Amino acid sequence: MVRHPQPTSTRRTDETSPVRLCVGCRQRESIGALSRVVASDGRLVVDERRRLPGRGAWLHPHPDCLSKAERRRAFPRALRVKGMLDTSSLRHHVERHTESKAGVDLPRPERTRKQVDPS
Ligand SMILES: [Zn+2]
Repeated sequence: MVRHPQPTSTRRTDETSPVRLCVGCRQRESIGALSRVVASDGRLVVDERRRLPGRGAWLHPHPDCLSKAERRRAFPRALRVKGMLDTSSLRHHVERHTESKAGVDLPRPERTRKQVDPS
């Protein structure tokens, strides 16, 4: 837990958002920039709303971080899962995310990203 001393007059919620470790590159990052990944039926799936119960692993939605995480088997360890986890769905998500970021400011696709309600 990192606490930032802040003047009470300018309290902003996003500056106090929690920080997690990316299982790929092991960098600390605010959860807003990471994808939450959970295991479901032996597959890794992205918990887009960050609401699924159980253990989650946090990852930059970036192919490099995904590869690193796969190589060191960070997911089974982080999620306490034994055996293989299918990463194809996660990889798809990461690639899609990377593409949309690299492109010229595309208007947001129909899938609107919902922020977690702070209340
Ligand atoms: Zn990372």
